[in-house]
Order: sequence, then C-alpha cells, then structure tokens
Amino acid sequence: MTGTLLGVWAHPDDETFLSSGLVLAARERGDRVVLVTATRGEHGTDDPAAWPPERLGRLRERELESALAVLGVDEHRFLGFGDGRCADAAEPLAARAIATIIEDVAPDTIVTFGPDGVTGHADHRAVGRWTTRARDAVAPDTELLRAVLAPGFTRRFAAANAAFGVFMDDPADDVDPGLHLRLEGARLDRKIEAMLAQDSQTRRLVEGVGLAAFRRWWAEEAFLVDRPARAATAGAA
Ligand SMILES: [Zn+2]
Repeated sequence: MTGTLLGVWAHPDDETFLSSGLVLAARERGDRVVLVTATRGEHGTDDPAAWPPERLGRLRERELESALAVLGVDEHRFLGFGDGRCADAAEPLAARAIATIIEDVAPDTIVTFGPDGVTGHADHRAVGRWTTRARDAVAPDTELLRAVLAPGFTRRFAAANAAFGVFMDDPADDVDPGLHLRLEGARLDRKIEAMLAQDSQTRRLVEGVGLAAFRRWWAEEAFLVDRPARAATAGAA
C-alpha cells in the first residue's frame, strides 16, 4: 500500500480516529495523501444551543485544518453533504462525486469505512457504500481498505465504550482484518496530538477516561483489505 493514498470519510475527526497510522506512514515515505470529508460535522454536539450548526461547522473546519497539519496532510476536500443526512442522499450522485475525485487523484490505495461504519453511524455506513461503489465503477484495480474495529476492541474497551456512547450498536470486532496497525512512540504521539486538535469532539472523552487510557483506546487501527486480483498478481511479480 505505497503510492498515493485517498481517504474518504464522513465527519471531521473520522480520518484522525481511524486512519492516522496509515496517513503518517504514507507521509513519512513521502507519499501523496488526499483526504475527503463528506460533511462539516455541524451537528456533532450535545449542546446545540451553544453550538448552532453554522458556528460548530466553522469550528470543526478549523479543528480539522489543525489536525491535518499535525498529520502532514495538505490536500483536503469537503463534499458538502449535511451532517446526519448522508443516508438520505441519492447514492448514485454521491458515488459519482467521489468517482470524480478518484479519477482526478488516481490513488494507489483508497481507505474508507467498513460495512458497519465502525461505530454504526448511518453517515459512516453511507460514505463507505458510496466510496466502495465509486471505486468499483472507475478504479476496480485500486486497493481498497475498509476500516473496522481492531480484534477484541469491544471486550478490551467495554467500559470506555459504554460510558461515552461512541458506538451506536454492536459493531463486529471478530473479523480478521488484513491490516492491523498498533501505533506507539512518536507516531502515536502525533495521532493523539491530531485528536486533541479536534477538541470539540475529543475533550469529553479525554477528560472522562484520562489521557493514558485515551491513548490506549485509540492506538490501534484495523482494515479489511480488498486487493484486486490483478494488482495482487502485479505486486507478486
Ligand atoms: Zn464520524
């Protein structure tokens, strides 16, 4: 999975929670990374009176910019969908928008959500479907990584998961991910710094479990690997 990496996510912070390890490794190699976010995450708050959508959307754009600077990413695009409305969008049109970006960027690897959206969020599931559809349509030979929970995640982090309601149903953590990253040292430091840059989303989690537990909670990343037959053969040759 070297070469240009294209990540397609639903909300600012998904890219950091789920793919910092991939992104940091790519940037350390000098590979191009382009990240796409479907929405501005303008409804991602428990306090909409203090944070009306317009205001929160602007804040999350700035937070994302800071996080991407920490991850060393300088290419990012928004798709402009409404937060919480992705599942209502016309899927062919949404997939077409992503396909246009795939054609433009010509990635070697695409990364997005797995079938259960990792957390079960409907926006996550929709963006995962759109991206898979777009890749199948215009770049079927491109490797596709689909984020899932690391093996045993729900058992190992049951207390934290239950306390914060991050996970909307019981996502599967018993599938065998083709790629399982365990971040440590400087790379984990950078990931945590990028997460803390998105303070509107991470502060309550960090304050709730403490920084050391927060680091352990998000130190792993796992992906289903869909490597087309032709690409696999070329790689083996
Ligand atoms: Zn999200």
